[in-house]
Amino acid sequence: SLSIGIVGLPNVGKSTLFNALTRSGNALAANYPFATIDPNVGVVGVPDDRLPKLAEIHGSAKILPAKVEFVDIAGLVRGASEGQGRGNQFLANIRETDAICQVIRVFSDPDVTHVDGDISPQRDIETINTELILADLQTLEKAVPRLAKESKGNKDRKSALDAAEAAVKVLDAGTTLYAGAKAAGIDLDDLRELHLLTAKPFLYVFNLDADELVDEGLKARLAGLVAPAEAVFMDAKIESELVELPEDEALELLQSVGQEESGLSQLARVGFDTLGLQTYLTAGPKETRAWTIRKGATAPEAAGAIHTDFQRGFIKAEVVSFDDLVEAGSIAAVRSAGKARIEGKDYVMQDGDVVEFRFNV
Ligand code: GDP
Repeated sequence: SLSIGIVGLPNVGKSTLFNALTRSGNALAANYPFATIDPNVGVVGVPDDRLPKLAEIHGSAKILPAKVEFVDIAGLVRGASEGQGRGNQFLANIRETDAICQVIRVFSDPDVTHVDGDISPQRDIETINTELILADLQTLEKAVPRLAKESKGNKDRKSALDAAEAAVKVLDAGTTLYAGAKAAGIDLDDLRELHLLTAKPFLYVFNLDADELVDEGLKARLAGLVAPAEAVFMDAKIESELVELPEDEALELLQSVGQEESGLSQLARVGFDTLGLQTYLTAGPKETRAWTIRKGATAPEAAGAIHTDFQRGFIKAEVVSFDDLVEAGSIAAVRSAGKARIEGKDYVMQDGDVVEFRFNV
């Protein structure tokens, strides 16, 4: 499944965040058969208000939300691209993830030293981006001469070469490919084979002091540093306390710092979206479940998320929109109101579709 790598300088709160992710995910993982619990992977449920409503309508025994996997990528320090620290291992680990989540320190605890002396979110973002950019430039340095050779008399390879050369220019200017490829006219698909780090989608977690969580001006300035990438704001220390508390006490603690939703929940939602994913829903007496598919997936592809046999034997799907179902109160009522649609193999799934597949096995 798709995963997001967590990176950041030392002492910014990565372990604190990651431990919270893992602890919140252990309860979730227990619900999923075959879920492996890897110490470097934290799994979080994607919050979805629709699930409890659906479960109520169907009398479902349990609820299974979609999940996002976060991978702890330790060891990014200044100089990692030149093999400092655990440089090479770090680069190998991050290459396997589908998106990159940078944790940035904003909290100002004087007892926690900053590797570069003082607190500067902008400098830290640049330090990390520089390491990732240097790693990509090393990859491209080797790739460009090879692509130049391959593209002699081969038009397909020419577009890969052109994209690689344009990418070098973007990176030389200090911009990640995720932020700068579009403006430079680069189609990231032409670079896919190179597995460049900065071409992955980015998102940012700003680790704030609790009183800064309600400072909208500060948050807007920080978001501005990373736009168009998404920013999530949290106090990692509070997040690590929240996962230890029963639901009502957790809510109380959140409200005491002016929040309605935990940082972990926000991160799961934003991460899911950054990965280009969406869900559809199934519901019955056994379980109500959100299934993960790529945005733009067709009905047979969606059936394949449940089982590959369902995709192969797909006949049709009965699709009900969540809103229609809630309004009618039951599947039977939606059907008799004529709002249950039968869709074929070309149907493109919409977020919030409640589905029942018909298939041959
Ligand atoms: P890492 O090196 O990035 O993994 O950082 P850690 O998670 O180990 O955190 C370094 C230190 O900062 C630890 O003593 C944490 O308790 C502390 N810390 C982490 N997050 C916060 C936070 O949001 N606020 C404060 N005040 N301290 C934090």
